[in-house]
Amino acid sequence: MRTVRDVKALRGLVAGWKAAGNSVGVVPTMGALHAGHLSLVHAAKAGSDRVIATIFVNPRQFNNPDDLAKYPRTEERDAAMLMEGGVDVLFAPPPEVVYPAGFATSVSVDGVASELEGAFRPGHFDGVATVVTKLLLMTGADRAFFGEKDWQQLQVVRRLVRDLNIPVTITGCPTLREADGLAMSSRNTRLTAAERQIAPALHRAMTGAAEAIRRGVPAGRALASARAALLAAGFSAVEYLEVRDGESLGPATGAPARILAAAVLGGVRLIDNIPV
Ligand code: AMP
Repeated sequence: MRTVRDVKALRGLVAGWKAAGNSVGVVPTMGALHAGHLSLVHAAKAGSDRVIATIFVNPRQFNNPDDLAKYPRTEERDAAMLMEGGVDVLFAPPPEVVYPAGFATSVSVDGVASELEGAFRPGHFDGVATVVTKLLLMTGADRAFFGEKDWQQLQVVRRLVRDLNIPVTITGCPTLREADGLAMSSRNTRLTAAERQIAPALHRAMTGAAEAIRRGVPAGRALASARAALLAAGFSAVEYLEVRDGESLGPATGAPARILAAAVLGGVRLIDNIPV
């Protein structure tokens, strides 16, 4: 596996692969890798001849400077995991390669990006949309792999790729969970041992609400008791816990719906989503 930090070298490698008739998959990440990220690598390996993984802790998508400062950075360990996973190239650019002096462009997605995460993390999806657009254009990948863990992000990426005619196929991959149901996340390492015991309550409460809704309990009532269960379990705040249309993220209209939630436990904000 080669580690590449500049766009010209990356493009050279990709041009060579494409000239040889190889398809290229990309897995964008912010590092601090876990099995969830590796499942995207495996999907990329299965779906492409060559695989690029990117590691870039994108300052523009952090609306909270403290969250950016505390974001775990473990590139050496990450590189070993990616090599083991069969990645061909790790693209890990420094911030000035992605955002050179004078950088003045932002990609902003309306609608699907405006509520839920968009409402609670102002500017977050502009940062995500801008960096994903750049990573897709820099890599020139044929396919890109994103986790359903960040469901709204996946819909934002699908929207921008369609809107901007970026020639890439987006594949969503299922959320990998710990044995107790907690969605794997780089931020889980910031939970204390006691908080780690409490954290699976999020998935449990959401699963309970989904089952209740399927049994015919009105969504408002099911979500209210899930919210109460989270606060009783030790979460300090539930930012949102809602049933939404799975694609538009607007009101659920009977099409495949999703429960999406963000809740704060200690100093860590956890998000999760499941189908209803
Ligand atoms: P991140 O490094 O958190 O930006 O995540 C990089 C990619 O990995 C995103 O597409 C995430 O949705 C995906 N991802 C993160 N956690 C998981 C998980 N538990 N299962 C599946 N994919 C995940």
